[in-house]
Amino acid sequence: RVKEQGKNHFQFYTPEMNDRVMKEMQLEIGLRKALEQQEFELVYQPQIDVRTGTLTGAEALIRWHHPEWGTISPAEFIPIAEETGLILPIGEWVLREACLQNKKWQREGHPPIRISVNISSRQFQQNELVAMVQNILNTTELEPRYLELELTESIIQDSTHAVEKMQQLKNMGIHLSIDDFGTGYSSLSYLKTFPINTLKIDRSFTSNIYNDPKDASLVETIITMAHNLDLKVIAEGVETQEQLSFLQQRQCNEAQGYYFSQPIASADMDKLLKNHKTVLS
Ligand code: C2E
Ligand code: MG
Ligand code: MG
Ligand code: MG
Repeated sequence: RVKEQGKNHFQFYTPEMNDRVMKEMQLEIGLRKALEQQEFELVYQPQIDVRTGTLTGAEALIRWHHPEWGTISPAEFIPIAEETGLILPIGEWVLREACLQNKKWQREGHPPIRISVNISSRQFQQNELVAMVQNILNTTELEPRYLELELTESIIQDSTHAVEKMQQLKNMGIHLSIDDFGTGYSSLSYLKTFPINTLKIDRSFTSNIYNDPKDASLVETIITMAHNLDLKVIAEGVETQEQLSFLQQRQCNEAQGYYFSQPIASADMDKLLKNHKTVLS
């Protein structure tokens, strides 16, 4: 209970810290078994062309269904997976599953859509990333243009040889996007050197379009800047008709958010793909 921060930085744990450490340890033990126990699921959130109302893609988002603890949010377990390195096998599973599923939809005769997969920092930094992605595309037979990888500004900033890696992925024909754009405090100069296709405007800006004129200006500016740089823009976290209208008026390309759909199970995506033109226009 004593907390000292003397010269030797000696520090006892407080009860709260103990709880947190215990919880993280339990999560880690659970995570180690989760892959082989098949406790992970991918859910998919539709991405909509705001001009035509058609479905253009879907973001794959991981869910962990633990037999006792229920469903655990990625916000809770991805950081632990990162710390422990478990993100490498988990991330590979996500990538393979997303590509398999997208190819399956195409084989079933649905119009092709792009699948977006989140890449974590440690995953991006691993040397085998490019080879692993290539291997997954080969074995699933998904064409690279139907895969998009989402990277954050901080992931790119923290990685050595980031540009080379991105260039290799881009050369394979894969699309690259910057996730949570605007929250990374990084210099904008990377936008001219990095081979990216798309900026995803962070939800924190989109959700305040109507109550904060400054957020509205930022969104407007990001869209204009992206277009001037030949980049596509997706707004994340669109929840209302008003937000959508704002984005439509400013020629934002695509939108994703609860207004259209929450992330849904693959079986529900099947239904959406069958009816998407009428459902989403
Ligand atoms: P993200 O990549 O920025 O994903 C968007 C998050 O916003 C998702 O949360 C999604 O469910 C949520 N969202 C979408 N539309 C709305 C909306 O209109 N309103 C609100 N309030 N929220 C919305 P989720 O699925 O809990 O994922 C959280 C984060 O966890 C993701 O943020 C991503 O950084 C990470 N994550 C999720 N799946 C994976 C994965 O497979 N691999 C890795 N490395 N990270 C993942
Ligand atoms: Mg994302
Ligand atoms: Mg995001
Ligand atoms: Mg986010």
